Amino acid sequence: MSAKKYLLSTFSVILFAILAACSAPEEAANEMDEFTFANYDAIVVRHVDLDLDVDFDNKILTGSAELSLEILKPDTNTLILDTRDLAIKAVFTEASGGWQETGFVLEDGGNLMGQSLTIDLPEGAAKVRIEYQTSPGASGLQWLTPEQTAGKEYPFMFSQSQAIHARSWVPIQDTPAVRFTYSATIRTPEALLALMSADQDPYTPRDGEYSFEMPQAIPAYLMAIAVGDLEFQAISDTVGVYAEEYILAAAAEEFSETPMMMEATADLYGPYRWGRYDLLILPPSFPFGGMENPRLTFLTPTVIAGDKSLTSIIAHELAHSWSGNLVTNATWRHAWLNEGFTSYVENRVMEEVYGKDRAVMEQVLGKADLLETIAGFEDPAMSALVMPYGLNDPFEGFTDVPYQKGDLFLRYLEQKFGREKFDTFLRAYFEEFAFGSILSEDFYSYLDENLMSPNPGVVEPEVIRAWIYDPGLLDVAPEPTSDAFTLVSETRAAFLAGEISATELGSEAWITHQWLYFINALPDDMAMELFIDLDTTFDLSVTANAEIAFAWYMKSLQAGYLTVVNPVEEYLIRIGRGKLIYPLYQRLVDISQRDWALKVYQKARPGYHPIAQARIDAILEL
Ligand SMILES: [Zn+2]
Repeated sequence: MSAKKYLLSTFSVILFAILAACSAPEEAANEMDEFTFANYDAIVVRHVDLDLDVDFDNKILTGSAELSLEILKPDTNTLILDTRDLAIKAVFTEASGGWQETGFVLEDGGNLMGQSLTIDLPEGAAKVRIEYQTSPGASGLQWLTPEQTAGKEYPFMFSQSQAIHARSWVPIQDTPAVRFTYSATIRTPEALLALMSADQDPYTPRDGEYSFEMPQAIPAYLMAIAVGDLEFQAISDTVGVYAEEYILAAAAEEFSETPMMMEATADLYGPYRWGRYDLLILPPSFPFGGMENPRLTFLTPTVIAGDKSLTSIIAHELAHSWSGNLVTNATWRHAWLNEGFTSYVENRVMEEVYGKDRAVMEQVLGKADLLETIAGFEDPAMSALVMPYGLNDPFEGFTDVPYQKGDLFLRYLEQKFGREKFDTFLRAYFEEFAFGSILSEDFYSYLDENLMSPNPGVVEPEVIRAWIYDPGLLDVAPEPTSDAFTLVSETRAAFLAGEISATELGSEAWITHQWLYFINALPDDMAMELFIDLDTTFDLSVTANAEIAFAWYMKSLQAGYLTVVNPVEEYLIRIGRGKLIYPLYQRLVDISQRDWALKVYQKARPGYHPIAQARIDAILEL
């Protein structure tokens, strides 16, 4: 990051902090999304009807999107939509005289934003229909060849629309500020099943034509599609798993507690409002842990550890059915309203389902990650909950800060006001803003009105504003401590002092969290014979647990324990989940192994998602 950029963004944060401190909420409510071309203050899309053919030979979607409009400003005669690399064939509008072709202009707005599509609207037009096709390189779609799937027989395609990739497969107002319902007809090769973030019958016959209805209004980033050789297994009447056959039974077993989690979340925060809740296990190239597509969470297979130790991801994606999907950040600068609340709810649900010890272990690991992340920022503005303007991509702001700092902030409020009052408050908050898109200032006003003012003197308004707008972590942040981890620390110290060997760690009953805690704090200059002792005792270099493997590889590379080199190569080729691979590439660069990293990347890159490719290209400075 350049010095100039640092100055600019620091300036904008100071400016915004001043504005926020003096401005009324009405002013803040006018903040427009900087990552959209859409003129959504004048006209909004209320419903989308898609009709698309999935063409695996050409790696494109082709068909039409029909948009129902609501005019907010009466003299509006253009509709501006977001697109990226779409071929627009024709645009029609429907007014009183029926459908007729209308004029449009596509204008390039650069790599990040894509192209604005400006459509002429005749007087009284209530609908537009856009005939289009996507490009094979669409940033929001990944097309896998049969060889890249586990079954090896059929191709696979899936979307990742967050943050601003929906525009690469649907011409749309691609901003979280706008919500719409949608319906879709999707045609696929006959043997394959299509799924969307919408109402669907798990037992629908496979005939190559699938219909979907999404009756709840959602923002564009929650539109999702997947097509593949997928099977379904029920976990309960309303919960189930879709996956390729090789992993279906293991996934259903791993996530068997999902109905319990749903119940726990609904007990705490009000009813689940989305009908069914299903999980879709994607191929390993999925760049994220999970994506909270409504009714159908998309998941990486790397969380199937065999011992249910990584199921907090389900608690997280499920929690988004309240925070994020139900109450949404109106612009990406306020993503902590999605992710911080979700991380907090996730941890509460983990406590309900697995008990306090495990919930606290996750808090300790989360805070450690946050402190490391904050320490690594060149630009302190990145450590404020409300992100700076002018990021190169909204996803740049999706660090540990919106997640873990947001979680700490809400736990701070819980500690101050007491759990009972805070639970009541949060439940009412989800109800108040249900199916709405809001800014941090909306949250602040609601908090002030419903918790701070009725309970004067419990917290200081300046402290609350500092939590939301200031960089860094306040001294008043909660400090979780875990007895289980204290024990691990003692064991680690004894091991490092040579008092016990690897076989004497007493780690037989450790869960993944304890292993991560043990490995992460091993010193970078640990003696090679200790690496060898751990590795030969626990086979850490070849463990099937993707999170433990990641921690071990990071530590080993830093220390120069080169036994991991082949396993790391195999891992980087097999897995495409960003959280597990970006830091490994970065570490290889940091320890002057860029050339080797590049060699591995050349083999791995074709299997990665376009989002991951772009990120690693940047790490390797390609
Ligand atoms: Zn999330």
